[in-house]
Amino acid sequence: MKALVKKFPEKGLWLEDVAEPITGPNDVKIKIRKTAICGTDLHIYNWDEWSQKTIKTPRVIGHEYVGEIVEVGANVTKWKVGERVSGEGHIVCGKCRNCLAGNGHLCKETIGVGVNRDGAFAEYLVIPEENVRKCREGISEEMYSIFDPFGNAVHTALSFNVVGEDVLITGAGPIGIMAAAVCKFAGARNVVITDINDDRLELARKLGINHTVNTAKEPLEAIMNELRIVEGFDIGLEMSGSEIAFNSMIDHMVHGGKMALLGILKSDAKIDWSKVIFNGLYIKGIYGREMHETWYKMSAMLEGGLDISGIITHRMDVRDYEEGFAAMNSGKAGKVILDWTKLN
Ligand code: NAD
Ligand code: ZN
Repeated sequence: MKALVKKFPEKGLWLEDVAEPITGPNDVKIKIRKTAICGTDLHIYNWDEWSQKTIKTPRVIGHEYVGEIVEVGANVTKWKVGERVSGEGHIVCGKCRNCLAGNGHLCKETIGVGVNRDGAFAEYLVIPEENVRKCREGISEEMYSIFDPFGNAVHTALSFNVVGEDVLITGAGPIGIMAAAVCKFAGARNVVITDINDDRLELARKLGINHTVNTAKEPLEAIMNELRIVEGFDIGLEMSGSEIAFNSMIDHMVHGGKMALLGILKSDAKIDWSKVIFNGLYIKGIYGREMHETWYKMSAMLEGGLDISGIITHRMDVRDYEEGFAAMNSGKAGKVILDWTKLN
């Protein structure tokens, strides 16, 4: 089968013939129809410091996908051939305290599809049956191909009750923008999103997020005055991974405000701890999606009228993947979808 492989420990990806994955007794084999490029894939493509430490070559990458079941293992009872599915990209142990309590997103043995084992940028993917998620009628295939990052956005945005609250989101990447749309949908009073890239803020406005601030050019105080946010933001969602953005968030929170961190800050990022302590701030780290609650909410909100389709800015045949990665590297793209259905 064809797959996008990190073949060599250097910049790039290679569309290669590799062996088809074998379906174990508890596994499901999926014929991939569409995949989306994640920031993680971009890191692997660019072969940055994190990838060099994490990825063992050769590795089939990718974890955002939708496809159709073509084979089920001998022990599989929940799924059948022909079903349209997506899947949870974190494979958990199933036996630790958190897994047993239904909190798989807190498993300490998490294995990442397309990172620690072969992934979905391939004609076929094999995953454990627990990781398969059914697609509902009426939600597009394209939308299901981005459920993984949409899930990051939903998990973070629904971490705290946003009803009637003023929400600050730092980082208008695809996940920040989707989270902003979710917060508006869920009843926030105001949603303000920041970035230092005007293209990204324009994309946010296209998705109906009207309060955008380029913090490289203007302070947050102007929009806070305009929106009569007097004492600070009630909820902060950090989605840039920037130390500067996180410190600015801390400076603009109401006392007792709640912050969720999804963006991957450098391990040595500095913050003024006295502000966290004396202002009584809450900090929650977010990894992945809640299993299965986030997946349920995603479908349910789309069925309830949430529209995030504008986040998909590029669609192309997988053979044009170089173009897709270039679009991602340009900082102008939202989600880039690769189509695998025209390969044969
Ligand atoms: P992205 O890189 O596309 O978006 C990040 C945005 O932050 C960019 O638009 C960038 O211009 C902006 N930014 C940089 N400095 C800023 C600053 N000082 N103020 C405001 N904005 C600034 O990433 P994404 O795919 O949207 O993901 C968001 C973050 O979440 C990334 O850090 C990613 O690595 C992380 N992530 C975490 C998880 C998890 O499970 N914790 C999962 C997926 C992604
Ligand atoms: Zn576990």
